[in-house]
Amino acid sequence: MRESAERLIDLRSDTVSLPTPEMREAIARAELGDDVYGEDPTVNRLEAMAASMMGKEAALLVPSGTMGNLAAMLAHCGRGDRAIVGSQSHTFVYEAGGASALGGVVMAPVRNTDDGELDLDELKHELATPADAHFAPPKLAVIENTHNRCGGAPVALSHMAEVSDLTHSRGLKVHLDGARIFNAALALETTAQTIASHADTVSFCLSKGLACPIGSLLCGNRDFIARAHRVRKMLGGGMRQAGVVAAAGIVALTTMIDRLAEDHANARALAEGLALVAGLNVRHVKRRTNMVVFDAGDPASARRFQAAMKERGVLLSARDATSFRAVTHYGVTRADIDRAVALAAEAAAEAFGD
Ligand SMILES: *Cc1c(COP(=O)(O)O)cnc(C)c1O
Repeated sequence: MRESAERLIDLRSDTVSLPTPEMREAIARAELGDDVYGEDPTVNRLEAMAASMMGKEAALLVPSGTMGNLAAMLAHCGRGDRAIVGSQSHTFVYEAGGASALGGVVMAPVRNTDDGELDLDELKHELATPADAHFAPPKLAVIENTHNRCGGAPVALSHMAEVSDLTHSRGLKVHLDGARIFNAALALETTAQTIASHADTVSFCLSKGLACPIGSLLCGNRDFIARAHRVRKMLGGGMRQAGVVAAAGIVALTTMIDRLAEDHANARALAEGLALVAGLNVRHVKRRTNMVVFDAGDPASARRFQAAMKERGVLLSARDATSFRAVTHYGVTRADIDRAVALAAEAAAEAFGD
């Protein structure tokens, strides 16, 4: 180990989190089989756990959140069908247009509010698409909770219920991109199952705040999971002794959910600290989860600030030319946060001074 004073403080994403010692143990000891034959007992155990935690009939382990959402969209929609997505959603912005490229799905973006909600007027407009040969028929609405590009905002249950009612009344299905559903549950003081109850299908990541090396789960009814299973195979996501992945997932679901509170407290401390640094402007969120988005002046000073932080061993991810995202996770302690704030003051003096 390097001296803690020299340790990198990596705030780029919670995906950089490394597995816990208990996960490494579980991986080494995992009972394995060929999951393409349905014979990996560890995968089967994880899928049963995930389904039960989300209140769904069945679950499917997939390599990534991107594949979970893609398999969901391709299982819900045929070629030429329309999926309503948030304009700032991960599915629309960050998944390489997979549903369109690989499944011929027409993605119809509806404006996301700053809170990660869907603009209900625009949603209603999309849902009012006439059943006429001119139009791609809407089949699915995708919602995201917590909302990544909207500063990690937890989306209110009342909004989810409204989207779900509107969408279902038109005969469409709802898929929830719940990559960070446990962060949402913590912030909304509810359970993942309650959040997922507003969607027909849900995907969540093991590889973010839960600190697993790999893996996401897609959950829904048996019939949906059977279709998604075929899609997963088609996408090349049928893995063999995937119990090595699932073993870490089981540890995550049993030991890593409650500690997310620490990440949320650390993100609050980081937001409060950065807000006091001259030249930085922390974006307000109603309820903070594990992210802090902040602006750092004009593009040139923002670049200087990021470089000055990197020089001091603090990594941030650029959101655009003038703003950054910092994410707290299992690999970041409260002492790291205090240090990152102190270093941000130094870096800002350097970047914004003359
Ligand atoms: C990270 C993320 C995903 C998928 O991530 P992978 O990197 O493909 O595992 C999907 N949705 C949201 C909101 C995410 O933050």
